[in-house]
Amino acid sequence: MMINDLMEKVISLCKRRGFIFQSSEIYGGLANTWDYGPLGVELKNNVKRSWWRKVVYERDDIFGMDAAILMHPKVWETSGHLKNFFDLKSDCRSCKRRFKTQDLKDPQRCPDCGGQLTEGRPFNLMFETRLGVIEEESLVVYLRPETAQGMFVNFLNILDTKHPKLPFGLAQIGKAFRNEITPGNFIFRTREFEQMEIEYFVHPKEAEDRYQEWIEERFKWYIELGIKRENLRRRAHGKDELAHYAFACTDIEYNFPFGWQELEGIANRTDFDLRKHSEMSNKDMRLFDEISKEKFYPYIIEPSGGVDRSVLAFLIDAYYEEKVKDDIRVVLRLHPSLSPIKIAVLPLLKNRAELVEIAKKITWDLKKKFFTVYDDTAAIGKLYRRQDEIGTPFCVTVDVQSLEDKKVTVRDRDTMEQRRVGMDKLKDYFFDLLCV
Ligand code: ATP
Repeated sequence: MMINDLMEKVISLCKRRGFIFQSSEIYGGLANTWDYGPLGVELKNNVKRSWWRKVVYERDDIFGMDAAILMHPKVWETSGHLKNFFDLKSDCRSCKRRFKTQDLKDPQRCPDCGGQLTEGRPFNLMFETRLGVIEEESLVVYLRPETAQGMFVNFLNILDTKHPKLPFGLAQIGKAFRNEITPGNFIFRTREFEQMEIEYFVHPKEAEDRYQEWIEERFKWYIELGIKRENLRRRAHGKDELAHYAFACTDIEYNFPFGWQELEGIANRTDFDLRKHSEMSNKDMRLFDEISKEKFYPYIIEPSGGVDRSVLAFLIDAYYEEKVKDDIRVVLRLHPSLSPIKIAVLPLLKNRAELVEIAKKITWDLKKKFFTVYDDTAAIGKLYRRQDEIGTPFCVTVDVQSLEDKKVTVRDRDTMEQRRVGMDKLKDYFFDLLCV
């Protein structure tokens, strides 16, 4: 399969089957903005749920939270985003196209038309808006460019309500906005996106060890959810690449069809954020060290991943085309916990009322535990292919024999193997296979 082909095939599947649509399509679309359809929202929610389960439910040292997108503008002054959160942009004097200076091979020449480029000029990536109805009195606020700050400014609230001991963390999933100079590659780089972020507060002496642990922990998560090992790598940032708040940062990169690119960054933010917010707000965020008997600011280790980028990586990694007899079968080998639909129930003959009735009953019964759908709108072979293409791990077929032996056929998406399972055993059977 050609590489660009793979990207095009995934994009086309996303649209054809209702994973992802272009935003405002009936008005010609809004560039680089995407809407998640019925299957896309399931996949995206499953990614978020898997992350939340791993970092909140399966640990006892991380608390979840959900802060507002709009925050007091002082937050962004203190965090350094107002001053430092920019990319350099270069404009072509001839064709007027705009480029991120850092991406240019020749910073003088336009890569499109060969025209003269302007010098790189700073361009702040934060979206600005106004809060309030009276123009003169309204307050300039920003759409958050990272969810992290919502957790730093709640640090004292968490201490007061949960009384945690170091190390402990906060986890949050939410929208972030950046006015990117060059968005693109489908949902890889957009101006509105979702982040999954952990802020892990540690004693400064432990920071390096915890930083290394989190790199491994997060790397493992992608592999456990089915990403092929050879398509993932870690890449430590050079000192010149580091964000203004970071002492060290390692990216987990995925081998996208358009090259190795960041999926998630794990940063050692030092005590930069808590120190600055303490100084600016006059609220002391230091903790007391029992050994040295001194107050200190905890360091922060931050694993920060993109929901949309992970969704794209999971889709690309799972996409297969296989020859089956004389046919090409498209199959999304998604990890079952990510699959939008877990089970499809299909009657072998839709004109046999008894089969339809049993199939519908099984569907409603399974729906209480797993997202299950019923389909009888085509011949069985076609119904299987439809489910393969959207990554449904199991199909249940009700046939004439089911009327006698009270068993149904369960077909596995990946092996295409079929096995007879008693109708009364179905829930337990799937519980073992799907609750992983
Ligand atoms: P990049 O270098 O690709 O611009 P970044 O290093 O600026 O990314 P971070 O600030 O580390 O990104 O943000 C953490 C995560 O948020 C990224 O790893 C990525 O998954 C996601 N993310 C950041 N910007 C975007 C975007 N414009 N569109 C989609 N996801 C994004």
